[in-house]
Amino acid sequence: MSRNAELFERASRSIPGGVNSPVRAFRSVGGTPRFVTRAQGPYIWDADDRRYIDYVGSWGPAILGHAHPEVVSAVQQAAVHGLSYGAPTEAEVQIAEMLIERLPSLEMVRLVSSGTEATMTAIRLARGATGRNKIIKFEGCYHGHADSLLVKAGSGLLTFGNPTSAGVPPEFVAHTIVIDYNDTEAVRAAFAEHGKDIACVIVEPIAGNMNLVKPAAGFLETLRTECTAHGALLIFDEVMTGFRVGPQGVQGLTGIKPDLTTLAKVIGGGMPIGAFGGRADVMKHIAPLGGVYQAGTLSGNPVAVAAGITTLKLLSAPGFYEHLASQTRKLTDGLTACARAHGIAFSADSVGGMFGIYFADQVPGSLAEVSASNIERFKVFFHAMLDEGVYFAPSAYEAGFVSSTHDDAVIAATLAAADRAFGKLGN
Ligand SMILES: *Cc1c(COP(=O)(O)O)cnc(C)c1O
Repeated sequence: MSRNAELFERASRSIPGGVNSPVRAFRSVGGTPRFVTRAQGPYIWDADDRRYIDYVGSWGPAILGHAHPEVVSAVQQAAVHGLSYGAPTEAEVQIAEMLIERLPSLEMVRLVSSGTEATMTAIRLARGATGRNKIIKFEGCYHGHADSLLVKAGSGLLTFGNPTSAGVPPEFVAHTIVIDYNDTEAVRAAFAEHGKDIACVIVEPIAGNMNLVKPAAGFLETLRTECTAHGALLIFDEVMTGFRVGPQGVQGLTGIKPDLTTLAKVIGGGMPIGAFGGRADVMKHIAPLGGVYQAGTLSGNPVAVAAGITTLKLLSAPGFYEHLASQTRKLTDGLTACARAHGIAFSADSVGGMFGIYFADQVPGSLAEVSASNIERFKVFFHAMLDEGVYFAPSAYEAGFVSSTHDDAVIAATLAAADRAFGKLGN
């Protein structure tokens, strides 16, 4: 028995499903999850000491490659001075200033410990600041696991959602309106009907939790216009896209300014951190200035902040994002050409260091279109690549991530593996 299989069996006795976050369990692709023992640059090693080229990158944070020496050293130096104080530090001020300097829509920012905390609090803040209850979210966008956000569309157009998790009372999502991603008409209709009750719209401005799905022309602009016209707040959930798609997130790419932004993943460089920020007049509703409560024992943790500051500094190197985007494009263009050569219906898309691959002729624009792709074929491809030593996300509904350490040799090795994997698929 492989050491991975042994560990998975042992893990399953003490941890539900053997994992601490569901997608890690390989349920949607089948097989045994790889237990990671170490990681360096573009590679991870499993418990059987097999090496894989990693396109998950801890689901986004590992943008500089794993265990970047300067980030590791910053963490080590911070740790020597104590792991947590529960009192303010200068480093927290520094990272807040760095975030505000980099993202023009941020006038004030608060640190938390995860993306879930950031989005959950941003929603509470939007409700508290507007005095309204209803929120709009989009089918296929994931904003962490807070109750009011674990919701999918009900039956019929323009309905309030149904919980997607047991344990969430229907009443808790009764204020959440769920609309298809890129359905601009439905957004207008929702505002026409409920405009004066809508506190906010929360959106992944480029979606990465239903595989990669980009906003259609005019979609984000409509969100901005409708929110402004009806006094609702626009929240860009840039937990995944922030510092991943470019130096200023999607707001930098599109020039659309949200009222609030949520961040996590890259800004902690692999350590647990999250942040929400935006307009000062809105942020001033947060305790202790205002009546919207939020707190955290480990918020602004000095070790996580040290990793974050160092990561953000390294991301500011000239040409960083051009290089990252070009490596990512080499991967997606190469995979597409290779699949075509094998006569396989396949498409791919990318932005900055984030990509999507789809067993479909065209790049999808919604959750329904992603679901209509050939998911069975993805599973076969995933396992063929895993056998080849290439670790893609173990689900057809996840985006992929490239780091600055994925050099030409790594991409070439991936494409050579893909050529063999596609060859096994048949058409
Ligand atoms: C990962 C993610 C979250 C949740 O962040 P956690 O740190 O896992 O709680 C929220 N929103 C988006 C867009 C994400 O990608």
